[in-house]
Amino acid sequence: MNIILLGPPGAGKGTQARKLVEERNMVQLSTGDMLRAARTSGTEMGQKVAAVMDRGDLVTDEIVIGLIREQLESDKAGGGYIFDGFPRTLAQADALGRLLVDMGENLDCVIEMQVDDEALVGRITARSTCGACGEVYNDNTKPIPADGKCTNCGASDFQRRADDNADSLRTRLMAYYKQTSPLVGYYYAKGDLVSVDGLASMDDVATSIASALRQNE
Ligand code: ADP
Ligand code: ZN
Repeated sequence: MNIILLGPPGAGKGTQARKLVEERNMVQLSTGDMLRAARTSGTEMGQKVAAVMDRGDLVTDEIVIGLIREQLESDKAGGGYIFDGFPRTLAQADALGRLLVDMGENLDCVIEMQVDDEALVGRITARSTCGACGEVYNDNTKPIPADGKCTNCGASDFQRRADDNADSLRTRLMAYYKQTSPLVGYYYAKGDLVSVDGLASMDDVATSIASALRQNE
């Protein structure tokens, strides 16, 4: 089963993707994570995209489609793929459709996580992640434990993303509405879209996603 998690920055795509990886043995393909990894390892591409990402704009379709193609070729997923933060443009959606056809795979379901802008700003400016395992924390709803150790892996190195600030967030939201939100109509027309309330609790969102997936199995 191959699915897309679609939604604005801060909708909770990464959090839900991590749950699905644990529970269903799926492989998470996050272009945001791939691009951040390229920056950390200092590749030429990583250096090229750094300023674009910090500003909150989209990197080129060519780069992200290339990253996804490479992963699909190398990373065979028994439980299927979760596309997280990809596709973000109609050109990316078309490219993904072609890549899946070439592999003899289907897209089973597109989950749209609906949230309002107000909530996004609050979530994102309060967000940090464990540098070792990627566990996501939130100053208000899931603070870093008092002993300063990650509940998931015990590491004590927490990071805030350079683009998790009010200015970049405004640009990321604009990019979402202008370039990505047309995908909601695109997948609706294909009959693949399921919308869930992203403002519900983490567990309730997970339950809604699980029932959407069951109906597509
Ligand atoms: P968000 O929390 O905003 O959903 P991501 O971690 O998915 O963040 O992406 C962070 C940044 O990486 C984006 O703002 C954009 O610059 C770049 N990026 C990630 N995925 C894509 C994509 N599919 N197309 C273009 N740019 C992307
Ligand atoms: Zn951790």
